Amino acid sequence: MRTVLESPSDADTAVISADAVCFSYANTPVLDCVSFELRRGEFTALVGPNGSGKSTLIRILLGLLPPAAGRVTVLGRSPESLAERWRIGYVPQRPTVAELLPATVQDVVDAGRLARRGWWRRPGPDDRVATDTALDAVGLTAMRHRRLAELSGGQQQRAYIAKALASEPELLVLDEPTAGIDADSQRRFRDALVASRARGATVLLVSHELSAVADDLDRVLMLRHGKVGFDGPPADLAAGGISLGVHATDLPVWLEDHA
Ligand code: ADP
Repeated sequence: MRTVLESPSDADTAVISADAVCFSYANTPVLDCVSFELRRGEFTALVGPNGSGKSTLIRILLGLLPPAAGRVTVLGRSPESLAERWRIGYVPQRPTVAELLPATVQDVVDAGRLARRGWWRRPGPDDRVATDTALDAVGLTAMRHRRLAELSGGQQQRAYIAKALASEPELLVLDEPTAGIDADSQRRFRDALVASRARGATVLLVSHELSAVADDLDRVLMLRHGKVGFDGPPADLAAGGISLGVHATDLPVWLEDHA
């Protein structure tokens, strides 16, 4: 498996840097001077009450929305100017699946790999291994030849997670990826994220349901009222009585208190 870290100094490089980022939709202010950096190899959960601006922030970080003020860099560039999009793996909250699209699960996962390889190159052994590993990681090996449009919402979501994993990105951003995914798939999902991080990838996971990854997270960032309300390791939350693991309801209750 390819490693992302090329030299020890890479560990200090900010993979994402958000500096005083502000954003409003028409008259609805959403982000008010949000600043943070994510370092190479960090596994961070982004949490916050519903409507606190998590998806908006993600879209700004990916260059899909321009910030009203402030500055974002991703992998050292402004996100909209990053030509090698495969370096970022993104799993949106609700991927749109064209009902009539004849694509199979494998086609979708291959597409993630194709972006990295370049369409003009034939797939090599590395590509096949990456696709197989990604399909296995989400438990879809047996369904690889099924049409995506025939699968359940949770299975489609898993195919899109596999697509992101297959390109072996340096930054993996997942927006509520496990909604509707069963416990067994959640465990596989956790293993895949841990393996990505072991490869040196930076992982940013938006989720309310962190019990599967509670022991693996380096950091929790909490948005509230448009600002970063908490930024620290899960141990600091645990010290304050918020368990992400055993008492899975702690987090939603804590977020509710901050809504
Ligand atoms: P979260 O992901 O934390 O639930 P969002 O970023 O989706 O929060 O939304 C933040 C706020 O912006 C909410 O009040 C939401 O209603 C509003 N919002 C989100 N998308 C749009 C949009 N396209 N147009 C107008 N308002 C929006």
